[in-house]
Amino acid sequence: MKTIALVWLIVQLPAYLLAQSDFVFPVDTLVKTGPISNRINICLLPDGYQASEMTKFRSDAQLFVNSLQSSAPFTQYKAYLNVFLIRVPSNQSGASHAGTASDEPFGQPIETIDNYFGSQFDTYGIHRLVTVNNYTRVTNVLATNLPDYDMVVVLVNSPYYGGSGGGISVATTHPSSGEIAIHEIGHSFVSLADEYWAGPQYASERLNMTQNPNPASIRWKDWLNAPPIGIFQHPVAGWYKPTSYNCKMEALGLPFCAVCREGFTNRILDLVHPVDEVLPHNDAPLTLTIPTKFSIKTVRPDPNTLHIDWLLNGQLIDQQNEMVTLDPAALQAGQTYQLSARILDTTAFIRSTDHANLHRQTVNWTIQRGCLVNISQRAGDWHDPTLWSCGSVPTSTSQVIIAHKVRISIADASAYQVRFEGDGHINYVEPRRLWLAN
Ligand SMILES: [Zn+2]
Ligand SMILES: [Zn+2]
Repeated sequence: MKTIALVWLIVQLPAYLLAQSDFVFPVDTLVKTGPISNRINICLLPDGYQASEMTKFRSDAQLFVNSLQSSAPFTQYKAYLNVFLIRVPSNQSGASHAGTASDEPFGQPIETIDNYFGSQFDTYGIHRLVTVNNYTRVTNVLATNLPDYDMVVVLVNSPYYGGSGGGISVATTHPSSGEIAIHEIGHSFVSLADEYWAGPQYASERLNMTQNPNPASIRWKDWLNAPPIGIFQHPVAGWYKPTSYNCKMEALGLPFCAVCREGFTNRILDLVHPVDEVLPHNDAPLTLTIPTKFSIKTVRPDPNTLHIDWLLNGQLIDQQNEMVTLDPAALQAGQTYQLSARILDTTAFIRSTDHANLHRQTVNWTIQRGCLVNISQRAGDWHDPTLWSCGSVPTSTSQVIIAHKVRISIADASAYQVRFEGDGHINYVEPRRLWLAN
């Protein structure tokens, strides 16, 4: 048994390692607004770009990102997006074109291209339907290089118009193809339906498609008073949509309708929380002895629609600021307090009633008032805890009163402030120092 296992390892292990390293490619950061753990991470993959064309890929990627960012709600939520490029080279430039579609345009050459992900025109006999045929490679490249991606778009290095959706969005570098990819992101990122009639096989209950036309309960009932949102019938009876020729899910070049835009915004806020950083850390109770700043660092939409409430034991003490200062002198000894920052995006893009429950973020700190003034009780050494009225050696957050002869000899000492009273005096044993934080 042992011999067989060893042989298996020798045969299988190198093959396994080879297969993995095959999918390792350089990852470039095009846009970094914050940590991967709290952003929508968009991955752009090149297809039909040779190794010598990666500069072109980068500028094509920038053009795509520009058009995504100029499309609501991404315009407002730019700060919520990271964009990464994985530099995967192809052996040849462009995409294959069999010339077998029923709607062949004039002038695009028929050719077979050795590109990495197998992008080709004419899928399902529709010329502009450009799809990637090597999904396994897409999956392996993503899993190996950027496993935390939220959205993936394959940019195909062909000047001819085309693209597709599904699990991944595909677009060529034709100036209008970015619109295809953004429409397709509506399918892949938000599960939106087409608002044109795509055929009965695509008809299903979605945010923007339903069989229930009752104005009191229709999926987009919150938007019925916002023209041009209404209840429009698809060409096939029994299915309804929120707009007629007023949404990018129906026709390219239009913005997303309010219903689809709400779907995008909900998805963005599902994935990105408004607070990036909390100071001081709130994983353990804090004992305050001096006025202390509490702050949050938020990810701001543009315009900033975040509403911030600060509460102390449920009582509102401040609003909108990202920082408050608490003075422990105003707290009672022996009582535990909860300081909370409550943050909700009040964007007009969301009307659903469960928004506050789903997307409000609350940051809590547990706080107690410490011993506010640490007074020497007799002559002795600073580092002797029994010397002090608080029963502990002063720290950089201690207000200290020296009323006796105190020696600093064992180590350096620190305090927030020191006041001398009566015979109070510090005797420094070289090279010891007292460090004051204030
Ligand atoms: Zn579509
Ligand atoms: Zn729509």
